[in-house]
Amino acid sequence: MSIHDNEASENPIDLAAARLVELGNQLLEQDPKADPWDIADGLLAGAIHYWLYTRQPCEDPMCEDCAPISSAELRMQALLEQVEQMAVSSDYYHSSNDLTIGRA
Ligand SMILES: [Zn+2]
Repeated sequence: MSIHDNEASENPIDLAAARLVELGNQLLEQDPKADPWDIADGLLAGAIHYWLYTRQPCEDPMCEDCAPISSAELRMQALLEQVEQMAVSSDYYHSSNDLTIGRA
């Protein structure tokens, strides 16, 4: 289905991303009247939920591995940094229909 299927199968990050995009396409095919924005919001909600689930710190308060995610605020900061990096590196970050703000 996806042009990325072969490359993605090697790497869990690419595989999960490709599967999520596939799921969004499947959901839209199943219900063509659905709003793609709603599907995307749902995928994002699930992705964030899963990400936070995996970032729960362990029981050791001195754990160095968990230090960067040892509070809700730190997890939010890490999440937002990751979201920004992923958005900027997306092929869809810029659109040809983007409004360009003129400079004074
Ligand atoms: Zn830990």
